[in-house]
Amino acid sequence: MRFHSFLIKYGEIGIKGKNRYMFEDALVRQIRYALKGVDGNFHVHKCHGRVYVDCDGDYDYEETVGSLQKVFGIVGICPAVRVKVAEIGQLKQDVISYMDQVYPDKKLTFKVEARRANKRYPMNSMEINCELGEAVLGAFPETSVDVHDPDVKLNVEIREEVYIYSEIIPGPGGMPVGTNGSAMLLLSGGIDSPVAGYMTAKRGVELEAVYFHAPPYTSERAKEKVIDLARLVSAYAGPIKLHIVNFTEIQLYIYEKCPHEELTILMRRYMMRIAEEFAKKDGCLGLVTGESIGQVASQTMQSLAATNAVCTLPVYRPLIGFDKREIVEISEKIDTYEVSIQPFEDCCTIFVAKHPVTKPNIERMEKSEQNLAGKIDELVRTAVETAEIMRVEQER
Ligand code: ATP
Ligand code: MG
Repeated sequence: MRFHSFLIKYGEIGIKGKNRYMFEDALVRQIRYALKGVDGNFHVHKCHGRVYVDCDGDYDYEETVGSLQKVFGIVGICPAVRVKVAEIGQLKQDVISYMDQVYPDKKLTFKVEARRANKRYPMNSMEINCELGEAVLGAFPETSVDVHDPDVKLNVEIREEVYIYSEIIPGPGGMPVGTNGSAMLLLSGGIDSPVAGYMTAKRGVELEAVYFHAPPYTSERAKEKVIDLARLVSAYAGPIKLHIVNFTEIQLYIYEKCPHEELTILMRRYMMRIAEEFAKKDGCLGLVTGESIGQVASQTMQSLAATNAVCTLPVYRPLIGFDKREIVEISEKIDTYEVSIQPFEDCCTIFVAKHPVTKPNIERMEKSEQNLAGKIDELVRTAVETAEIMRVEQER
């Protein structure tokens, strides 16, 4: 069957009044963006509280659906056949032909649900339901009608044109990116932080990201891996402004001046400070990390408190209650897993102590940081000023 349109279903809870327009406009914008890379001529528009994607001419069905399935805010994607508004005789033919092609096996129950947005049409919805229902029964005697729990709900919407659809392909849910401000994601090359970014974007939050590397201890290839991950996340989140920070001097200085078992936590505190600086500069409303309670020494409740203490912006940790297994499941679903497990070194892993503190005490951390007073401000300044900034987005 050739579908001429997709009717987009979206969750409507909490999007009344002014919010509704914002939500719909953002959804239309994100759909247009997602379809930019797909071959075909698409017309995305909203009409009477619905969003439609009309496809002119040839297009790749699988690719189109795949792209729409990455647009947050979409709950369902209904492939529709679009025909001209015509008298009921022609409409019956159109509906029969639809049923014939979409359902090769006719042993099914169905129900017609007509909607008449175009009130000039000379029959009301009830009459259209009856006529079309009878027509389908006549054409395919194996079918039967079930108005309560049909196998097929055959929707016929009469507007400027007639949309016929019955299938609903699930969308990713969530809210369109751009409806809930922006946040700065601390993106490493691991499994967790790309998933944390995905989950934040899912709630409508636009993402920026910051990656800390330590050349020459970490390789160019490790950096490429993080750019690849950012690109995969951007398939959902839209373009990501990525800051790549050279963290080597800061790391070496902490290594030289502070107890080695505190190294990881102290490093994480400086990462948060620098991330927050970029975030504030760009008006981001929070920081996002891939931390989950107890996963490693630097993620105990005490460690999280110690890294949190240096931030004034809220720190969002969408994976906080997730087991690794659950995080891996999502990373497989969003296609970041294979890249995340590529074995490249991370700056956090090069200078790690054998026995890192698991219950850091904030005052002790602050005291250790006093050892850094001589040079740390200048090193942070240089790290911020020399950061490489790039816009990462889906290749199209
Ligand atoms: P991930 O799988 O996301 O790398 P992890 O299990 O390796 O996480 P940690 O290394 O303790 O955990 O890092 C915790 C969080 O700190 C990460 O999820 C990420 O948000 C941030 N982070 C760690 N290393 C870096 C880095 N090099 N650059 C940017 N952010 C980082
Ligand atoms: Mg990591």
